[in-house]
Amino acid sequence: MKYYSTNGQEKNTSLEEAVTKGLASDKGLFMPESIKQLPKEFFDNMASMSLQEISYAVADAFFGEDVEKDALKKIVYDAMSFDIPIVKVEDNIYSLELFHGPTLAFKDVGARFMSRLLSYFIRKENNTGEVNVLVATSGDTGSAVANGFLGVDGIKVYVLYPKGKVSKIQECQFTTLGKNITAIEVDGNFDDCQRLVKSAFADKELNNAMKLTSANSINVARFLPQSFYYFYAYAQLQRSGKDKNVVICVPSGNFGNITAGLFGKRMGLPVKRFIAANNRNDIFLQYLNTGIYTPRPSVATLANAMDVGDPSNFARVLDLYGKSHEAICKDICGAAYNDGQISETIKQCYKANGYILDPHGACGYQALKDLLQDGETGVFLETAHPAKFLEKVEAILQTKVEIPERLQEFMKGTKQSVPMSKEFSDFKNYLLHK
Ligand SMILES: *Cc1c(COP(=O)(O)O)cnc(C)c1O
Repeated sequence: MKYYSTNGQEKNTSLEEAVTKGLASDKGLFMPESIKQLPKEFFDNMASMSLQEISYAVADAFFGEDVEKDALKKIVYDAMSFDIPIVKVEDNIYSLELFHGPTLAFKDVGARFMSRLLSYFIRKENNTGEVNVLVATSGDTGSAVANGFLGVDGIKVYVLYPKGKVSKIQECQFTTLGKNITAIEVDGNFDDCQRLVKSAFADKELNNAMKLTSANSINVARFLPQSFYYFYAYAQLQRSGKDKNVVICVPSGNFGNITAGLFGKRMGLPVKRFIAANNRNDIFLQYLNTGIYTPRPSVATLANAMDVGDPSNFARVLDLYGKSHEAICKDICGAAYNDGQISETIKQCYKANGYILDPHGACGYQALKDLLQDGETGVFLETAHPAKFLEKVEAILQTKVEIPERLQEFMKGTKQSVPMSKEFSDFKNYLLHK
């Protein structure tokens, strides 16, 4: 399968190149040249298939031409080795719990898949040069990528995070690992971290000296695997006879997750429509309402992994629908909630159902409450475990939230990080002379 750039300048790129480059040379995002329909038998059999079996069938449609069958199967089975259960919260509303992976957030799926695929290409090329993954994080991406790539041969990971601006739990998840993971504590904010990473990708001298790639959701290897669990969600609904008029609601920031769902629909998954749930950073909702896309600086909210003012995967949504606002509005509607509403929702859902939402999932749940129509079954993606936002959720509910074992393990390690100024010259020097 060949990939092209959403900016139209780069075409006929191989999967390997798309994965190792991350972003296309014209700064566009890579898209697969075609999206295969899955056969009728697959949909007929889905209800009796496991998460790994379903994931492999979907992965084969994307990557089957470029990765040998056995290798691909191993990559998929290894990446998808935790459960993604669907839980009934109340009548017609289900939570797809994407937080049973190592760092308790959905980004584990893409990060684990990408690390294994990248490692496959490095081995296949018998390539001695190591690949350096740079990732800027406000919390969740860093932990998922660091854990997904931990101990993978031939790959070094640099996680750049803003000093004093990520939660204790998040910081522990990428500063205590060691091995091939280096945490870089930047004396600045998240935007400074992102700027350092972007400058590094654009720097000729650095790129001549070392192989650099990104593990954000712009990377096809992180983004496409997220389609796997949409199929699995549907299969689970089939088992309980709730597979008519399915509406899937996705708490969205950079829009990688929901775009993977839209790809699933294109492959034949019978989802009636999608809802993009936002916090106060409602650029996409404004676009749906007006047809005009106006990025603006992000504002900080309770659901901080969705604090994005210019969602990078919007380019993919536009491309998928031939830039037609009308076509996009047919498949997707939007909703947005402020912090007060998010808190209220967490309280209400706990009181009514005994189900603890995290601030991101709360946006998804509330959007279903507000927008689900008669005869529809709603599924929201619960993108993180509430314990990842412990202080916030406990303050809202006035009750203790249980911390899963895996999270407690991270808290025991010793923090190791490299202090860094926000000047690019310092970061560049560090990379060149490390
Ligand atoms: C990253 C993240 C999101 C947003 O996902 P996108 O793919 O960027 O839209 C939502 N919730 C949580 C918990 C996240 O970590």
